[in-house]
Amino acid sequence: MATRYIFITGGVTSSLGKGLASASLGALLQARGFSVLLRKLDPYLNIDPGTLSPYEHGEVYVTDDGTEADLDFGHYERFTGVPTESSDYVTTGKIYSSVLTKERRGEYLGSTVQVIPHITDEIKNFITNKTHGVDFVLCEIGGTVGDIEGLPYLEAIRQLRNDLGRDRTLFVHLTLLPYISTAGELKTKPTQHSVKELLSVGIQADLLLCRSDRPIPWEAKRKLAQFCNVPSDCVIAALNAQNIYHVPLQYHEEGLDQQVCRYFGLQDASADLSRWYRIRDQLEKAVEPLKIGIVGKYVQLLDAYKSLIEALHHGGYPNHAKPELVWIDSQDTENLKQKLTDVDAIIVPGGFGERGIEGKMAAAEYARENKVPFLGICFGMQLAVIEACRHQLGLHNASSSEFGPTEEPVVGLLREWQSEEGVQTRSETSDLGGTMRLGSYPCVLQKGSLARQIYGEECVQERHRHRYEVNKAYLDRLAAVGLIGSGLSPDGKLPEIVERIDHPWFIGVQFHPELKSRPFAPHPLFVSFIAAGLTYKKQKS
Ligand code: GLN
Repeated sequence: MATRYIFITGGVTSSLGKGLASASLGALLQARGFSVLLRKLDPYLNIDPGTLSPYEHGEVYVTDDGTEADLDFGHYERFTGVPTESSDYVTTGKIYSSVLTKERRGEYLGSTVQVIPHITDEIKNFITNKTHGVDFVLCEIGGTVGDIEGLPYLEAIRQLRNDLGRDRTLFVHLTLLPYISTAGELKTKPTQHSVKELLSVGIQADLLLCRSDRPIPWEAKRKLAQFCNVPSDCVIAALNAQNIYHVPLQYHEEGLDQQVCRYFGLQDASADLSRWYRIRDQLEKAVEPLKIGIVGKYVQLLDAYKSLIEALHHGGYPNHAKPELVWIDSQDTENLKQKLTDVDAIIVPGGFGERGIEGKMAAAEYARENKVPFLGICFGMQLAVIEACRHQLGLHNASSSEFGPTEEPVVGLLREWQSEEGVQTRSETSDLGGTMRLGSYPCVLQKGSLARQIYGEECVQERHRHRYEVNKAYLDRLAAVGLIGSGLSPDGKLPEIVERIDHPWFIGVQFHPELKSRPFAPHPLFVSFIAAGLTYKKQKS
């Protein structure tokens, strides 16, 4: 079957959950037996989101091939299980940079380089590149219709409708129907305006996905259909969901996938939604509360920990546990101990910079001494190792070169490492963008270790995003006080997992296991961590 393209735009306001909507539609098409690919075009000028503040943009998601992508990629992968890669994510910055490089190389043969056709052609190439054999490409256009930044993208998809034809392209527009209490009504006007705005750039929406906090009356649907020029079956309610994993089932009940398949003349395929019913059942059974303390710096914007939050919930399913996340500001060291006594397990997640490290190390120390289950992720592992060096080996100056020159570089800058593209190098003065160990790397698990038992495998692939590494020489000294390296890079040089042999569950990982957890395939580390938390909770009471 020729590849079909579904373009998802957003109207009225941002934050309506376009990523989630795209991911859910992808999951529904998969349930009908089609292969899907999810892509996103982001209208900002940054080349990638690696240098964006997590306070503003939330988590940076990392793919297997080391692409730093928007957090919507987490939704895409969690809902479809399809790994994304660099050819699935583009920003305006990347598009322009590629066009300007071509211009410098003289590839445009002296023609005037313009937004139309050069930028739009680059966008169209991005959308249609590497899609061979894929049934559906779902393309999310970042931002809101009407933004100046989004115009080249809208122009490009308008052209694609002409290039590929109506039977291979579908425009989905996600909007909001606000409820006005004084009128006692859901209002359709903002959606009408937003559809008109799209029309002004030559795009007629084919299907409206309407976010609403209550069921949409038939009358409102009819009005929207009439004013927005779409069939009334194609006005689909996207009601607020109790849990994000209910969304595919809700959309299905509203007829989203039926309408999409009807549009493309593919109504024969029936949907097998058993995976999503199973997840719904598991969610219902996950009731045993478990307090997990998360000690971090970005606790004001929880989107910074999006994948971590999801992975903890996934880990709860097989344990019938419902994690209650207790956010603990690592900079508030005064009340830290008090807060930690109240939780059943502790996490120190990934992070950057010196601010708040004392609190994070105090959390690792508390977990070590009181035998509370502890998971240190990336920065969390590095700080757990520094903590052990300072307090167990008596190396008071133990530190990371991330915080400036140090006599005891327990965590240091790795200047050279082997990746699939060959030897990579970096130095203190390298640009901040693109100088990290990024993407999937193998990790060999030591025989007899807890890590090996949890994974049940000898070698695993996990995703990384960090600039510094634990210095193996220090780790070798820590074995005498109970902290061992239980996962190493295949050459044995880089500590990837550490664990305490004198503790029921104390693990640090240099990678981000949360990125690979799926609701239908919870990550083993999180499943085991939650189980350890439940055991600890029982013993405590
Ligand atoms: N700041 C640390 C480093 O760059 C850890 C990064 C992280 O936690 N992702 O190595």
